[in-house]
Amino acid sequence: MRAKVTKVPGPKSRKMLERLKQVNGGWALPLPMAYAGGEGCYMRDIDGNVFLDFASQIASSPLGYNHPAMNAVLKRYQHAPVKIAGQDFTPSEHLELIESILKISPGFNAAFLTNSGAEAVENALKISMRKKRGIYGASFERAFHGRTLGALSYTNSKIVQKAGYWTFPAQRLPFDDSAPAKLEDMIKREGGKENLSFVIIEPVQGEGGYRIASKAMMRGIRKVTADNGIPLIIDEVQSGLGRTGEWWAFEHYGIKPDVFTSAKALQVGATVADKKFFPEEPAAISSTWGGGSLIDLAMGATIIDTIRRDKLLLNCQRMGAYLLKRLHELAGKHREVLNPRGLGLMVAFDLADKKARDHFAEALLCNGLIAIGAGQNSMRLLPPYLVSEEEIDEAIGIMDRTLAEIEWGAAHGKPSHAEHAI
Ligand code: PLP
Repeated sequence: MRAKVTKVPGPKSRKMLERLKQVNGGWALPLPMAYAGGEGCYMRDIDGNVFLDFASQIASSPLGYNHPAMNAVLKRYQHAPVKIAGQDFTPSEHLELIESILKISPGFNAAFLTNSGAEAVENALKISMRKKRGIYGASFERAFHGRTLGALSYTNSKIVQKAGYWTFPAQRLPFDDSAPAKLEDMIKREGGKENLSFVIIEPVQGEGGYRIASKAMMRGIRKVTADNGIPLIIDEVQSGLGRTGEWWAFEHYGIKPDVFTSAKALQVGATVADKKFFPEEPAAISSTWGGGSLIDLAMGATIIDTIRRDKLLLNCQRMGAYLLKRLHELAGKHREVLNPRGLGLMVAFDLADKKARDHFAEALLCNGLIAIGAGQNSMRLLPPYLVSEEEIDEAIGIMDRTLAEIEWGAAHGKPSHAEHAI
């Protein structure tokens, strides 16, 4: 298969998006085409355009489209009710997914399932607050943890997400090697270790621009939090479940958090910790759907099995290295491509500014590559875990051609999907 695009947006997508804009209360400048299905790393829209998808439904489709293992799950449930009150009526899929998560999370023995990344974070904050009663929590500059009020309070990536909402008490740390020392200063300044309930961090910032924490920074933060008895929450909603070439990005750093979160690629939200870290009282945390539908639960477990069976962690490592190598070559040829970086298949580079980035993302779409923005001026590349060298070559070819086509001096920025996609 190859990308093949006639017009973006095509007439059907344009019409559909215009109608949706009128009625959708949460308009977030979606990609200018309407999803219709796909095959492997390629996505089709309702106008018949075929795109090479290097966004993976924002890290949510690790196996790409129309994967046989996922189709088998759909077939299994085609005659069954799929959405049940899972925390109360206990389907076996619930237990199976928790056990699957724990198998790939050595040193952890309990998980709580929800429906989204924000809920996974919300519950991580709640159980940490319960464990260590303080008066504030700390997060990092440009962090993104979700849009529910608790998670949002510790999010710092875009003003539009926070403006006008109440916030929980939060302190912010720099996302660089000075962070451990600044955390120590903060603890002293804010009245001592008793006052700090938790520190929450993404090892690779997602929405903040695919910024990769250094080993010194992550280990330093772990040390200061451990020395002071402060729970460390690692948010793996975007970086987790194999994308970086390890099941969890924190494994690259040789550290263990007290709590971590997953969602996106897992298909449901999960808050993972030691059983003793969760509240003892029944119903102190709960949720009606509690892990979403039976299909989502079964998909999560199937995705974990498939990643293991098909050695996709290795593919994320190898293809991540190959993509980064090809990006460095591209940067050698086009001076617009700045600072290529990556951990496994969480890869990015920068353009001069937001205008140039947004313009480039739109032009890529018209040439058949889905790649979305992150942070102020970064392009992120996160193909499905089963991506091949040939598909990476095709993506690099599209970027090469697009970089050459754009008149950079005239690249005018208008608000685009690149700004808001999460
Ligand atoms: N945490 C991180 C690191 C994320 O990247 C996201 C979403 O992009 C979230 C939390 C929130 O997840 P959701 O959009 O499923 O609520």
